[in-house]
Amino acid sequence: MELKIENLSKTYANGTKALDNVSLSIPHGMYGLLGPNGAGKTTLMRTLATLQEPDAGTVHLGEIDVLKQKDEVRRLLGYLPQEFGVYPRISCQDMLSHLALLKGITRSGERRQVVEAMLQRCNLYDVRKKSLASFSGGTRQRFGIAQALISNPQLLIVDEPTAGLDPGERNRFYNLLAEIGEQVIVILSTHIVEDVMDLCSRMAIINLGRVLFEGHPEDAIKSLAGRVWQRSIPKSELAGYQQRYQVISSRLVGGRPFVHVLSADPLDAGFTPSTPNLEDVFFTKIRGWN
Ligand code: ADP
Repeated sequence: MELKIENLSKTYANGTKALDNVSLSIPHGMYGLLGPNGAGKTTLMRTLATLQEPDAGTVHLGEIDVLKQKDEVRRLLGYLPQEFGVYPRISCQDMLSHLALLKGITRSGERRQVVEAMLQRCNLYDVRKKSLASFSGGTRQRFGIAQALISNPQLLIVDEPTAGLDPGERNRFYNLLAEIGEQVIVILSTHIVEDVMDLCSRMAIINLGRVLFEGHPEDAIKSLAGRVWQRSIPKSELAGYQQRYQVISSRLVGGRPFVHVLSADPLDAGFTPSTPNLEDVFFTKIRGWN
């Protein structure tokens, strides 16, 4: 099954163009949707999840017309939104059981089995009796995935899932997503470059509602081969460098700015060639450089 998005556009009432003629083909597996804040990711995810309408365009999940056959889509959809609402003082196990009932698993024996399998799969079994309100960020996200998976979706959408997770929690969450991605379409919407690098075989970069790149992360990285240069500079010279060069990024290393610069011609004066990475691609694309 493939998710095909064609010419999707959305302008909000205040004039903000959140989606500008977006077309993407999303195959089975982990797909990264990478963009800075305000890029239009949430608008796109909510549209795919049938929670809001675009002004124009079409979306098909296999044979299903996503914008028209909403009930069919909802049966195949798992959605983990960025804000997951207020957590009630109900146990993790009881909540999953309740959600399974809402999804139509009415026989209690079957429901128990489904819930137990989900608790194991999402590594929640040890905390199954604890109240959701007491969960830490990582456990909460794994519960979010469990609730999204309870109906065995073919399309799983996760919006900014690793914000606020510590590195250990993030790793556990990655492993869970990667395992799910072997079976269904998973769209991971994020502004965190490493999330996409570590997990996704296909990706798109969007900014200001437009698709700036779609394809394999490695191909995007290869397109910068030989054109990224790096060096450490005194803080006082940063502004001058930004005027003279296409500075892709600057971060502090040992208290001094360490810059990556885009240039087709070799640079001297202390620059060394840098092996391009996905962060270089991301910043190059969102600045509109080629
Ligand atoms: P992202 O998830 O990538 O941060 P969003 O889809 O939330 O992007 O937002 C895209 C743009 O649309 C932003 O400029 C945002 O301010 C604007 N926007 C989002 N929702 C609304 C809304 N309900 N009304 C007006 N503008 C909105």
